[in-house]
Amino acid sequence: MDNILYALLYEAIITAIQPTSQLLLKIDRPHRQESNISYTIPFSNDHLLQPNNTQFKNIVDFYLTFHEIDETVSGMLVTNLINFIQDVILSFGGDNHQSLNVYFEIEDHNPNASRRLDVEVVIQDLEITQRKATGEEDSECAICLEDLQGPENINTLFCNHKFHHECIVTWLHHKTTCPNCRILIV
Ligand SMILES: [Zn+2]
Ligand SMILES: [Zn+2]
Repeated sequence: MDNILYALLYEAIITAIQPTSQLLLKIDRPHRQESNISYTIPFSNDHLLQPNNTQFKNIVDFYLTFHEIDETVSGMLVTNLINFIQDVILSFGGDNHQSLNVYFEIEDHNPNASRRLDVEVVIQDLEITQRKATGEEDSECAICLEDLQGPENINTLFCNHKFHHECIVTWLHHKTTCPNCRILIV
């Protein structure tokens, strides 16, 4: 474990006046050993809206797991992060229903941490970019062999091959190449 170096840097910016009912999480992977995570947290007066506090903790825990940071240390980091957020909210005063954007960065030098996390990041992008078929898709989904014109959402990969969203997400949990052309997706 002592070959793992990591840094968890964070800052919080209050940006929105309207509350966000949905938690937004975005991860960038600028380098294979670094995660930049930004997170929107709705809050009301001086506390995080429940159960978002728990959801937030779970998500941070989840990504720290990928980086294989020792459990005791990661527990401490999460607690510190949540305390920091609470302090920022308290210092902001009594304005009701705002959102907080939290940005944090995880950096480590554990080569094994990257792979699973990179798959998660690609899946997250597929969540964002999924769409209804336009009517111009004349091919079938090479995973389930069904028509792409159904009610299910589809994704187009960068190699231009199209699949049902659910099909390609399930696929990526087992293989990281395009089912059509075998190009490396992750
Ligand atoms: Zn399919
Ligand atoms: Zn392809």
